[in-house]
Amino acid sequence: MPKTLIEPFRIKSVEPIRMTTRPEREELLAAAKLNVFQLRAEDVLLDWLTDSGTGAMSTRQWAAIMLGDESYAGARSFYRLEAVVRDLTGYAHFVPTHQGRAAERILFGTVCKPGHVVPSNCHFDTTRALLEWNGAEPRDLVVREGLEPATVHPFKGNIDLDRVEDLLRREGERVPFGMITVTNNTGGGQPVSMENLRGYANLLHRHGKPLLLDACRFAENAMFVKMREPGYADVPVKQIAREMFGLADGCTMSAKKDGMVNIGGFLALKSDEWLEGVRNMLILTEGFPTYGGLAGRDLEAMAVGLEEVLDEQYLRYRLRTAEYLGEKLDEAGVGFVRPTGGHAVYIDARTVLPDMPVERYPAWALTNALYLEGGIRGVEIGSVMFGRRREDGEETFHAMELVRLAFPRRMYTQSHFDYAAEVIADVKKNARDVRGVRIVKQSRTLRHFTCECAWA
Ligand SMILES: *Cc1c(COP(=O)(O)O)cnc(C)c1O
Repeated sequence: MPKTLIEPFRIKSVEPIRMTTRPEREELLAAAKLNVFQLRAEDVLLDWLTDSGTGAMSTRQWAAIMLGDESYAGARSFYRLEAVVRDLTGYAHFVPTHQGRAAERILFGTVCKPGHVVPSNCHFDTTRALLEWNGAEPRDLVVREGLEPATVHPFKGNIDLDRVEDLLRREGERVPFGMITVTNNTGGGQPVSMENLRGYANLLHRHGKPLLLDACRFAENAMFVKMREPGYADVPVKQIAREMFGLADGCTMSAKKDGMVNIGGFLALKSDEWLEGVRNMLILTEGFPTYGGLAGRDLEAMAVGLEEVLDEQYLRYRLRTAEYLGEKLDEAGVGFVRPTGGHAVYIDARTVLPDMPVERYPAWALTNALYLEGGIRGVEIGSVMFGRRREDGEETFHAMELVRLAFPRRMYTQSHFDYAAEVIADVKKNARDVRGVRIVKQSRTLRHFTCECAWA
């Protein structure tokens, strides 16, 4: 058997990407005020800013687009998607939404009250912000290993069950439900084990609380379970996914991830307890319950995507992609969050730029350097994103300086990754030439999206 793991698809439609010269990129980045968020996508060669909604659809999905029923109420496409979601999750109730955060907003707006506490391994940014917007407190209880980039552990996305138990015992009346993110995006795309999920569900249920999955990357999580958890090696990944959903009482989903579509999401629930409120809020802010802010064609594409994502050949290639880049980075002496997660690689910028002081924003500097060197766009997860400049001008910094490279699904081939590894190794070799930045203009919140920088 050949050892090379190939992309399990061939390319039917191509979209050219544009090579630029280094002097062009210097000009483009200067015009973007040294902030890659401000670049035009067409000036980027490998766009690894996010894996959300950026992937390639299959021939079957494009064919399904033509089958979309655009009726306002009771469209055939809704029933097709409903059947797929029911088959996968086992949940009786399902509403489509235009993306994941809409499902979260509708759920939290219906259920959460000021003073509530909602535990999770790590809440995703929008989840956290929407809980707070509804007066509830998001509480991250990921296991200790999940916070240590260099520690290798098969399930760094697990939730700390002792801390959950403690929370339920001391403040149980404040907890309306528990959540868990699979895979744990904020923690590096790290998986949650079935054992941990079962323990968490049992704890919550013993206290009469439901468990909701943030299921964005449920298929990647199920594949990690198959590959790493004892007893699952021979279980079909779809059955593993069903078991995950079966332990929980509902889910929010961004189909822009493991739904394999460019837009879409849903909320699904086992019981009808919250259903009336959910449907009312959906109608008020998204659309009628059989289209939920999407076109019929979007529902069709999602129905196909949710089936295709459970192809084990695809998932094996998907998880191998991140691991492969990790191996190349190892060879180049570049540090990263270990083990590599499902959808992204998180480079530890301090291992590339050990001499750059944090005041020069090393992860931001590395993000810029990757663009200048090779036209690659990643995202800084460091002190520009999480640090603050206080009113008195005092700066606070983030504990880690990471650059996330997130991979759109079914888009890039092995040679793109070989190229990227070369670019990263070259940047490390010439680290002395990498320049830090200072922030010259910034907004009060989420400054990384719009801040303007100058070379320091
Ligand atoms: C992307 C994401 C969301 C939000 O979904 P959108 O479709 O972007 O609104 C929520 N949770 C996790 C874990 C995500 O990755």
